[in-house]
Amino acid sequence: MADAGQGICFTGLLGQDKAKKLISRTVAAGRLPHAFLFKGPDGVGKQLFARGLAAALNCRDKKIPGACGVCASCRKFRSGNHPDFMVVSPEKGAIKIEQVRQMCQALSYPPYESAIRVVLLEDVHAMRAEAGNSLLKTLEEPPVDNLLILTADSSRDVLPTIASRCQIIPFHALTEEDTARILTEMPGQPDSQTAHLLARLAEGSPGRAGMFLKTNMVGILKEVVAVIADPNLDADRDLGILLQKAEVMADLKENLPPFLGLLKLWLRDQLMYVSQLPERCGSEGLTRGDDSFRRKMQSTKQIFSRLQAVGRAEMELGRNCNRSLVCENLVFNL
Ligand SMILES: [Zn+2]
Repeated sequence: MADAGQGICFTGLLGQDKAKKLISRTVAAGRLPHAFLFKGPDGVGKQLFARGLAAALNCRDKKIPGACGVCASCRKFRSGNHPDFMVVSPEKGAIKIEQVRQMCQALSYPPYESAIRVVLLEDVHAMRAEAGNSLLKTLEEPPVDNLLILTADSSRDVLPTIASRCQIIPFHALTEEDTARILTEMPGQPDSQTAHLLARLAEGSPGRAGMFLKTNMVGILKEVVAVIADPNLDADRDLGILLQKAEVMADLKENLPPFLGLLKLWLRDQLMYVSQLPERCGSEGLTRGDDSFRRKMQSTKQIFSRLQAVGRAEMELGRNCNRSLVCENLVFNL
């Protein structure tokens, strides 16, 4: 298959053919906008693409499209140490007005050594109006030789004043195959079956799947499921076991919400089995290819009440309740 990013070579970046085409056409036509907004699910490669584009625009080897990977500029990009590539990341959940001001100040100087300086502003969906407003003038008319690339989660709204000043590039979830392929090259190198299971659970987000892998989230889920689906479990007698599971869950810290998401997915699959609709959980569910998840519950009523318990735990976490207490409360209601 021809590289969808012909014109600008995104070597090694899997998927996102539409984004590759759109960006390549824009660059080839010499119509680079002031700012791109890369919008898509979390963990599907938006930051990676921004780095790839920045490297390609500044590659010293003009004979090839894209980044050569070996010139002085490309080498600096590879080591994550390029003076003309700036990253502005959220601090405590969002990019703050002070960070925007500092960035605008930095942009008033010409790039150190490159044809074009690239500034990556991450997760602008979380940006408040105050910080967003301080960015508008720079977005509309950045100093010459600067390109801004903003990233945002597609499930969240971006301030309209920001979105309307950018060329929007849509990003999508990857296929299960591509996600699994990326996973098998990550540290920890899962086998093919595990990689496919993680890819399905992460719904085509290699970043999310990588987090599942790193935190052993599926292993923890199996442990918790083995306890809560045990028909012989006695809450009084097995108090120690339940508290231990609560502790393991609480130790996931900021990754607890995605864990609860997986728990809900498992419960949903149980519902499909109990309702005699196993085909409904075949593609996305936890159960395919892994028998340890096939532990049926007795009734739909029981499953609904467990789903509600997980929903309550999510709400409590959203209100910043004590994580350990939320987990203890949850395991006793599962
Ligand atoms: Zn190069």
